[in-house]
Parts: sequence; structure tokens; C-alpha cells
Amino acid sequence: MAEIRGKFTFPGGTHPPENKHFSENRSIEPVSVPKQVAVLLSQHLGAVCVPTVAKKEAVLAGQMIGKSDAFVSAAIHSPVNGTVKDITLLPHPVIGRTMGIVIDVDAENNEIKQPVNGQFDKTFNPENYTVEQICRAVKEGGIVGMGGAGFPTRVKIEPNPAMPKEILLINACECEPFITCDYRVMLEWTWQFLAGVRLAARAAGCEKIRIGIEDNKPEAIEVLTNAVKELGGKEDIRVVPVKTKYPQGGERQLIQSVLGKTVPTGSIPPTIGVCVLNVGTCAAIAEAVATGNSLTHRVVTVAGCAIAKPGNYYVPIGMRVEDLIAYCGGLTETAAKVVMGGPMMGFAIADLSTPLTKTSGALTFLTKAAVTRAKHEKQQTPCIRCGRCLTVCPEHLNPTRIAHAVKYFRMDIAQDYYLSACIECGCCSYVCPANIEITGYIKTGKLLQARAKRRLG
Ligand code: SF4
Ligand code: SF4
Repeated sequence: MAEIRGKFTFPGGTHPPENKHFSENRSIEPVSVPKQVAVLLSQHLGAVCVPTVAKKEAVLAGQMIGKSDAFVSAAIHSPVNGTVKDITLLPHPVIGRTMGIVIDVDAENNEIKQPVNGQFDKTFNPENYTVEQICRAVKEGGIVGMGGAGFPTRVKIEPNPAMPKEILLINACECEPFITCDYRVMLEWTWQFLAGVRLAARAAGCEKIRIGIEDNKPEAIEVLTNAVKELGGKEDIRVVPVKTKYPQGGERQLIQSVLGKTVPTGSIPPTIGVCVLNVGTCAAIAEAVATGNSLTHRVVTVAGCAIAKPGNYYVPIGMRVEDLIAYCGGLTETAAKVVMGGPMMGFAIADLSTPLTKTSGALTFLTKAAVTRAKHEKQQTPCIRCGRCLTVCPEHLNPTRIAHAVKYFRMDIAQDYYLSACIECGCCSYVCPANIEITGYIKTGKLLQARAKRRLG
């Protein structure tokens, strides 16, 4: 295969070891149905859902079990046939604890859900669906951004005359180390993914579609480029290889790399006419629109040295981490840390009964040796004013100043240095020779700021 070099990039960033080898060549594998699932009522940005079912009620796979009337929210569905055992506080991978619905699975009456990619090919015509039909299916299917942020997709794609969108930018970078779920979707579910891309562009009114993909995925670039050619050029779709650099998949960084545009600080992409979606989200859009299926399953990468069987697994949303570990052959003896997500932006899991959510793209299993190599496990020393954190910050911030201000509870100074503009990419901590957990201070600062706002509001 000819070497493909992405020309486009953004200032700053860094190059952590990619570690994609654990799972990049493992095909998507549907997992067996667990005995119980725990579906969280908060898996997205916006209002938390309220349950629409009661204890002891029977539920069907795909049935809505939680909803909210708020504009920014997304409905929740059961991934299995079963009975509601409890509605209670459950561990949440990011916010600690939140309400969720525990469902005992009906063992006699559940088949392993298979992907629907076989239903799509190049003849798929997005014009068979109206904009209203697409937006309704996306809303009723509870689709959210599956790359991590969990922003409700219907809000992103539905027409907004006050903020018209011109370009649909697909974030196919998957720049975080270890994670390969989107890569496998592009390779194996190519036509389903492209169907979702074209449906989203139709709903959003975008004339141009650009697929930004890092140049460490030449096979996916080739597959997508050929598929786009087969579509015959009716739509303006281009596959754009970009340089492999972390965090190339940051929304603002990718817009800069592919489109040469800057999203103003504190603003969002639609203000400059851009709608950004990730790969898994597009596949989910296609499934919801063409088959009526809700978002109840997703592909999760399981990777790292501390798990017996790494791979890319198609799992029910609500499956507990411990059940997926058991399906993957268990932890190795050297296991020391489980991270939901990748090592740069993921969250360490303290409770293995934590359920997977719509935004859980990966579980990374680290050994003691890998953990002790991590910066935050090493002894911190005073800042030597080397300036490396400033050089790598993709948002052009002064990370050391912000961290210092947060350390001394000077939130006014932290905000003067644009605390809230930090995208929490972790580059500053990664390069700091003094091992200062700069991103940790910044995250704490944001939490303190949010609490202060709530108190005042
Ligand atoms: S300050 Fe924020 S955006 Fe800048 S490098 Fe650190 S974590 Fe990334
Ligand atoms: S990288 Fe670390 S040591 Fe260097 S200026 Fe930033 S905080 Fe200080």
C-alpha cells in the first residue's frame, strides 16, 4: 500500500505512543448477552432523563425507558428483553454516581444483537428520507455524539436558520492512544457509516462533506476513498488525510487542520457554519433512520497489556465493565488500572460494576509497569519554567499559570488565563519534566468554577 502522508495539522500537540496494535486488526465481535444490565439515565450532555418504566415492569429490547422534555437531552432505551429490577443510584464513569435502571435479562428470550451493516451498500439513497424523518429518527433513537462528549445529535443536525451549516466535518481521527473502534467501523461498516454521513449532511443542509482522518490509518483512507468514488460524485465528499498528532481529533483542532478555520474561543463550530460528527455516531444515525433501531449497542475497544483478549466488541449499552472483562477472558495478573477511554483523556474506574454508556468507546487495561511510567505516579518537582507546556497546548493557553492559580484557589486569575477554554487534552501534563499534573489542577478548577456558578445561580 502506498504511503499516505497527511499534509494538514494544527499548532501544538504531542506524539504519545499510539499503541493501536492491541486491537486494530481485531474484527468487531458481538458479545453474549449478560445476565443483568444497568442503564444510566445520564449518558449525554444536557438534562438527565426520568424513568418511563417502574420496578418489576417487563421491558423489550429497544423500548424507551428514560426521557426528558428538555431541548438538550437524549432518550434512553433498553438493550435487552427483561424485567426492571431496580431504579437506583449507580456508579457513573465520569460524574461519580447517577440514577440508572437495573434490568434482569430474560435468559430465554434474548438473542445476541448483530450489527446491521449488511443492510447498506452504495445504492443507499439519503433522498428517500425527508429532513423531518431523519431528525425524528435521530431524536427517538436517543443518538448522541459517541466520541466522548455525548452532545445530543438531533440538536447538532437539525436545521437552524439563525445558524446555517455549510460543511459537515467527520472526525475520523481517533487520535487517542489504544482506541480503534471507529477504525474498525470505517473498515467493516463502510457503507453504513457513509449512509449516516450522507443522511446527517442532508438533515443539516451541508453542501460539503469532509472526512478528516489521521495518516496512521492508510487502509481506512483507501477503503473510504474508493467507496466515495463508487458513489459517483453526486455529493461533494472528500476524504482528507491529516497528520498523526495528538489531539488531532479535538473538534477545534480538526476544523483548523482540515478547513483552515478557527472557532472563536468560547464559541461552537456551528457559529462558523460547521457541524462535526464522529464515525460511530454516523453509523448509529444510519441504523436509526433506515431500520428504526435505537442506540442500544456500540463498539467498544478493549486494549492494553492487562487484559487476556483485547479486541473491538459490540456490546449492549449498560453492560457492566466486570462482565465485559469476564467475556474478554479476565484480567492478567499484572493488571493495575482500568481506564474508561484512552490514557490521555480517559477516566480511571474505581468500581468494576460501572456500566458502559453511549460514549464509552474504549476500556484500557494498564499493568503496574505502565502505571508507574505514567507522569502522575512520579514525584512532582517545582516548575522549572521550561515552557514546554505552552509549546504543546493546542489552545494556546498558559497551562502553568492556570494550574498555579487553581492551586492557590485564585479562580479569578485562572479565568483571566482562560481556564474554561482548556479542552483537557492532557498534553501539558504529558510533556512536563517536573511531572506536575497540570491538567488535573485545571479540571479541579473547572469543577470549582461550576460549583461556584451553581451557588450563585
Ligand atoms: S491547558 Fe488544557 S488544552 Fe492546553 S495542553 Fe493543557 S490540557 Fe490541553
Ligand atoms: S512544562 Fe512543567 S516545568 Fe515546564 S513550564 Fe510547564 S509546568 Fe513548568
